[in-house]
Amino acid sequence: MPMEIITDEDLKLTCAGFYWRVNLEHKDVRVLCCAPLEQDGLTNGFSTRTGGTSSLPRDALNLAGFSIDAAENITENRRRFLKSFKGHWTLATCWQVHGATVRAVHDANNASSNANELCDALITNTANVLVGVQTADCVPVLLGDARTGASAAIHAGWRGTSISIVGQTLQRMSLEYGTRIEDVRAAIGPAARACCYEVGAEVIELFRERFAYADDLLTETRAGHALIDLQRANCNQLIAAGVDESRIHTAPFCTMCRTDLFFSYRRENALHGRTGRLLAVIGRAEENVR
Ligand SMILES: [Zn+2]
Repeated sequence: MPMEIITDEDLKLTCAGFYWRVNLEHKDVRVLCCAPLEQDGLTNGFSTRTGGTSSLPRDALNLAGFSIDAAENITENRRRFLKSFKGHWTLATCWQVHGATVRAVHDANNASSNANELCDALITNTANVLVGVQTADCVPVLLGDARTGASAAIHAGWRGTSISIVGQTLQRMSLEYGTRIEDVRAAIGPAARACCYEVGAEVIELFRERFAYADDLLTETRAGHALIDLQRANCNQLIAAGVDESRIHTAPFCTMCRTDLFFSYRRENALHGRTGRLLAVIGRAEENVR
């Protein structure tokens, strides 16, 4: 039997609560999954850039961004991505505008037809619907509530984070589905991390105005500039809303450091004038409905 090679990266991933899902049909399509959410009965995944048909620059799994890629590429890439998950799924996405509007997806038949609705978080408790947000450096956050089967996909860039979109999504989940905070588990996905993501005075001031702990998120670089930790900011907001820290899992990947695995708007847009989009999805399979 061949010896399994365990790398530092695998160890780090396992400790953080994540694993790579194998796609049997397309071996190059790698999807990062949060294991504890999966064990709660919530199918979930963060896409990577490999194994697709888009020339961004090649074989790229671009899952959104219709203005920069042919629709047939995106459709085929989404088909391949969804093959990573057992069963038949309907994908629900939205037109993201860096706001704090939360949309509830009630009907699997209409789930995919509202893709042009403006919002930055989607919630559902409908079986076999995957709610999804697109990112390329912004923070994708997935929430799951095993008791009610409700879930959420949230797009939190610096604007969404500054208006606490995760807190607003949690409130909406409790209104719509009776979600109790203590039942919520969260996965914070790959994003531009504090090693790379520099912001200017406008963002620094905004965060200082809104969050007492803002300086813990910021590392000054040069006059009027700082590196910001948006994964941590969203983690802090989840904790402030009452989610137990042990139920928050943060993927140990920076999209700006790891352009071999992820799309990075900041790294690639300046170089190539366009960037692909990743998808973060979550939902509940029919067989897990209790
Ligand atoms: Zn980095």
